[in-house]
Amino acid sequence: MRPTGRLHLGHLLGALPNWVRLQDDYDCFYCVADLHALTTRFDSVAGMKQDGIEMVADWIATGIDPQRSVIFRQSEVKEHSELALLLGMLVPVSWLTRSPSYKEMVGELGERVATFGFLGYPVLQTADIILYKASRVPVGEDQLSHLELAREITRRFNGLYGKVFPEPKAILTETPRLVGLDGRKMSKSYGNTIDIAEEPESVTNKIMSMFTDPARKRLKDPGHPDECNVFSYHQYFDIPDGEKAEIDSACRQATIGCTDCKQRLAARVLARLDPIRERRRQLLDEPGRIEGILEDGRRRAQTVATEVLGEACRTIGI
Ligand code: SF4
Repeated sequence: MRPTGRLHLGHLLGALPNWVRLQDDYDCFYCVADLHALTTRFDSVAGMKQDGIEMVADWIATGIDPQRSVIFRQSEVKEHSELALLLGMLVPVSWLTRSPSYKEMVGELGERVATFGFLGYPVLQTADIILYKASRVPVGEDQLSHLELAREITRRFNGLYGKVFPEPKAILTETPRLVGLDGRKMSKSYGNTIDIAEEPESVTNKIMSMFTDPARKRLKDPGHPDECNVFSYHQYFDIPDGEKAEIDSACRQATIGCTDCKQRLAARVLARLDPIRERRRQLLDEPGRIEGILEDGRRRAQTVATEVLGEACRTIGI
């Protein structure tokens, strides 16, 4: 995951619970992808290291266990860069330029990001995966094409030099379609998110200003819970079936106000966030705690990375 800012409710309900679950069945490597972050924030690096530290605090506070999983910074395991360089020798440029996400991102972020590094993003991403001979990668449906490219690059390496790397397969992870507080796609840049570590007062204020069913202009107007973002948030935050049915019916009969409904949601969201915020605070208050975890992770990651890169180099004959 790239350290591009604080994690929000989309991460809390999306990638993170999947990552936590995977720890039961796999040896997991979770990487602060700071080199990847540089592809788009090469000109705004201030705070990037701290962003990484806070992101790791979010991971651990939500259940990633640094004893079981390897947590490290990508830039501190130099083998990522070296393997990416080797893979770069055999990847045709056309494989990278045809990628729809490359064109889309350059269209969205402008020529500023049309750099050598950004074009090579999928090569570095492949190195990140195969450097640990990963058999599985947790991805959402929208990332399947990236993984297919990684598999293609892996096949090319194995075909040219000899089979070193397994072709990584996807673990397709279902993530809820949580939209932003204003009903648009959830995105930091739209300012429609709630951070995992956000202070309770701010969380409450944001929920109280959420968009609801536009049909409910006045208290006596009947509502449509299935068209209301607040109602969908209730469901993502474990509303008991009885209360869900009660709000559904009260909204349709206009016997509950949106303010009351949002207050209940705020209480529900805070009940989930409070213990996470507390665990996170404890981690960050202890000097050097996260850096220690990252150093331990670097050591464990590097042990594997050195061996695999060595094997790759010997197979190439360098
Ligand atoms: Fe939405 Fe609740 Fe208002 Fe109904 S009462 S429109 S579910 S916020």
